[in-house]
Amino acid sequence: MFGKWSETSKSINSGKSVNIAHIKLDGGLTGEQLTTAAGVVERARELVSLAKVKIGGNWDSAMKAAGAKCFSLAPGGPGNADLEMMGLVLRKTNSGISGTTTIKVGSSPDANGYVNVHNDFMHKVFSSHAVKNLKTGKKEYIGGAHIDREYIVNPTQNNGFQRGVLTFIHEATHRYAGTVDYDDEGYISATQFFGGGGIHFRDENPDGSCKLTKTQLLTNADSYAVFIYEIASATVI
Ligand SMILES: [Zn+2]
Repeated sequence: MFGKWSETSKSINSGKSVNIAHIKLDGGLTGEQLTTAAGVVERARELVSLAKVKIGGNWDSAMKAAGAKCFSLAPGGPGNADLEMMGLVLRKTNSGISGTTTIKVGSSPDANGYVNVHNDFMHKVFSSHAVKNLKTGKKEYIGGAHIDREYIVNPTQNNGFQRGVLTFIHEATHRYAGTVDYDDEGYISATQFFGGGGIHFRDENPDGSCKLTKTQLLTNADSYAVFIYEIASATVI
């Protein structure tokens, strides 16, 4: 809705700026909350950038295990075509969030985050990013990444900050690389992931395997978000 959002610009550690938007009706963000929101973007940038480099190097056992869980890659690691697809998504996402980027603080009650998807070119004039949908091959215009305001207001509760980072990366892969969602067959449980329960899709087979194919998983936003978080967060302080 036009005029619904209000925006503040803030410089972050890297010296780059980030635009932080909030829904006017929800009220402004405090200085501390703006710092937290900028921190989510900064952390996401660090993780995506490191993961992009790591997948091009030697895959250690932790990376192979994460690849097998998130993308159903072979236990030995990715094949050339797998790596090509992953490289494409990570490069595009990294370059997208490396520039001046926007984080929209506020999402619907039933979502941790979302992006608006527009198919009409009229939306080009707004802040949407044109991208080819990895599943349909069609061009779409994707709006800014929204994340739940709760993550910013209560970052230390229930892994709020970490969930915010994970969600921002998920939404950024939609916006910049054209990834898609597959409902509960493609969403990984953040509660289990951050609770030390490992990587589990919300709707998985009884033996713990994923219901989606490798080809589907290589286009799945949450597979990228969790994979990036898993392989990079232990390395970046
Ligand atoms: Zn999504």
